[in-house]
Amino acid sequence: MVKSGVLGYPRIGADREWKKLLEAFWSGKLEEAEFHRQLEEIRLNHLRKQQEKGIDIIAVNDFSYYDHVLDTATMFGIIPKRFSFEGGVVPLSVYYGMARGTKDATASEMTKWFNTNYHYIVPELDGASPVLTENKPLMAYREASEKLGIEGRPVIVGPLTFLKLSKGYNLSDTDAWLGRLLPLYVQILQELEREGVQWVQMDEPILVTKLSAADLQRLKTIYETFAESVPNLNIMLQSYFESVEHYSDIVALPVKGIGLDFVHGSSGNISSIKALGFPADKVLGAGVIDGRGVWKSSLLVKLALLQDLTEHVSVERLIVQSSCSLLHVPVTIKQETKLITELKDALAFADEKLDELVLLAKAVSQSSAGIKEELEEYDRACQKIKLSYERNRKDIQHTVTAISSQHQERSLPFSERYLVQQKKWQLPIFPTTTIGSFPQSAEVRRARQLWRKGEWNDEQYTSFIREQIDIWIKLQEEIGLDVLVHGEFERTDMVEFFGEKLAGFAFTQNGWVQSYGSRCVKPPIIFGDVAFKGAMTVEETKYAQSRTERPVKGMLTGPITIMNWSFVREDITREQIAYQLAFALRQEVEALEQAGISMIQVDEPAIREGLPLKEDEQAKYLEWAVKAFRMVTSTVLDITQIHTHMCYCEFHDMIDSIEEMDADVISIETSRSHGELIHSFELNTYKLGIGLGVYDIHSPRIPQIEEMTSMIERALRVLDPKLFWINPDCGLKTRGFEETVASLRNMVEATKIARGKYAYL
Ligand code: GLN
Ligand code: ZN
Repeated sequence: MVKSGVLGYPRIGADREWKKLLEAFWSGKLEEAEFHRQLEEIRLNHLRKQQEKGIDIIAVNDFSYYDHVLDTATMFGIIPKRFSFEGGVVPLSVYYGMARGTKDATASEMTKWFNTNYHYIVPELDGASPVLTENKPLMAYREASEKLGIEGRPVIVGPLTFLKLSKGYNLSDTDAWLGRLLPLYVQILQELEREGVQWVQMDEPILVTKLSAADLQRLKTIYETFAESVPNLNIMLQSYFESVEHYSDIVALPVKGIGLDFVHGSSGNISSIKALGFPADKVLGAGVIDGRGVWKSSLLVKLALLQDLTEHVSVERLIVQSSCSLLHVPVTIKQETKLITELKDALAFADEKLDELVLLAKAVSQSSAGIKEELEEYDRACQKIKLSYERNRKDIQHTVTAISSQHQERSLPFSERYLVQQKKWQLPIFPTTTIGSFPQSAEVRRARQLWRKGEWNDEQYTSFIREQIDIWIKLQEEIGLDVLVHGEFERTDMVEFFGEKLAGFAFTQNGWVQSYGSRCVKPPIIFGDVAFKGAMTVEETKYAQSRTERPVKGMLTGPITIMNWSFVREDITREQIAYQLAFALRQEVEALEQAGISMIQVDEPAIREGLPLKEDEQAKYLEWAVKAFRMVTSTVLDITQIHTHMCYCEFHDMIDSIEEMDADVISIETSRSHGELIHSFELNTYKLGIGLGVYDIHSPRIPQIEEMTSMIERALRVLDPKLFWINPDCGLKTRGFEETVASLRNMVEATKIARGKYAYL
């Protein structure tokens, strides 16, 4: 019998009960003992569910109190010095301190887990030698075995991945750190072996990236050490999110199993197996069910793939697995009552994926006619969506194909547009502006609730929004900003707002996934052809512009960001989806222009995170991402000034692409890592308008004038003063009223000082 396996299960619970528990504990509403007890209940429920569905190999130790990378660091006693931890088992106060900060110590940095929207806490190797504080995998294994009779497969973040994701040490110390960590890993594994554990899942997603010769050598050292130290423990060396680089090095390692992703790196992994074979003494964990997407799989197609694999791996050595942990998908489709049937029938969240795995494992083992029929029927149900109206908007498909084959170019190059725009706008040197949103006060949120519940009619809501706009237009004028915004009071979320107004989107009631810690997001599903249905932002923007003589920027979310923050259909390419979105947004840009709005910002904070993991695919992605942006923004008049905004990320590797977006002005979040970003402008010149955020909006702290003047001065050492704008790092939605006004006043003061120094220009 071929076995089914799951690499990890979502923690948050079908009703986000996990999130609620964490938050109750943080706010002091829950005693620690009760907190542990209730989390245990959730953890056991999740294991029981997999057991009842018939999953053969269930991951244990996938559960977390916050994040699995933080768990790993904590297990090794890797606690930054500022938390003054003195040894022993790490208390929850320190654990959550690292994640969220305490009154005395700032939180550790958080960053994206490979190319997903999940954020992990970056381990800081700041000196103290690691020690094993507790054997978490062993505890998880025992619990599953004693309480549920499950022979679990403990999952552990592998040493190479852990090291590569950590920071705070010199690269020249990598081997020293490995030397400290490796014995602790060995100790964990030996204890597991002694316990009688059969298999361990060693997660090494770093294997899908290019590794240096030194890292390959480390990999070898690590897994040879394990093979010698725990000869009776089987290690499944698990990769995911792409095909592995260095296939032959990896399959030559002395481990008993290799887990590969046959969804996101399928072609690469298959061609490696076909070309180089798969070692006869190893088990292949075949990740064929998508752990990241929300769609059902065509089980016939998956079966064919698995049968293909059996030409290289014997059936007894095959495990039918999820492609990665199911952490990245919502829990269950069961509670969704509002989706159209064709769509609901096509979706599989975590629980439904368990069924797919079991069915598929059965089908590979016994190719009876009955099973074949079952698979055929399954596939038929999920294919109905192909015939839906939403997927067959031929008009849109044709127009988008035609438009995307054209050049997306503004009629004048920047250097000439700039002069025309200067003449029209007469802006002072260092124009000041903000990124779009102003504080969403309790009052704003309450108004939206009342309106959504039907307690307020449209008129009441609209007049409330207008009042807010009035308040903030006045304030912005009084503070002395040059380019104003309407404040985005009508929006909860920058993607949802547009998704709700465009065709082709669906929204779930409960499709939450963990983004970081207790924070969950509910991404929309782009399931059909995206189409413009009517103006989305014109009313509010036009209203705001009618209240002032100064220019008001229209505010849109860009195509790539909308796409990257949604679950998307898989029958067409991401590139095509981006063009459909771009065409729809372009119609919004044109509508704004016709309504007299001549500064339009198209936000693309998520452009960098869509970058493929494989270096050789990155250029192509950037090319079509830039093209999509230009498709939105290139049909405007010369005087229309296009702005864009990006949140902080490592821009140094894509500055050229940013320039190619050809936005008249870009604002970038900078203040948290000022040095690094500025440094990239030392190496590359940037020839368009640019505003580097002069203060951090993530903190309630009011920035001092001098801090901002020195930031401005540093930036002006590498950027052309004539093209320089002054703005905060990002939108001000999450900030309070008083601090926002005070901070902006200081920003304007800092600008005046800078203007004084550059008055000769
Ligand atoms: N215009 C958006 C805002 O100000 C941009 C937010 C973002 O970059 N994430 O809220
Ligand atoms: Zn931002």
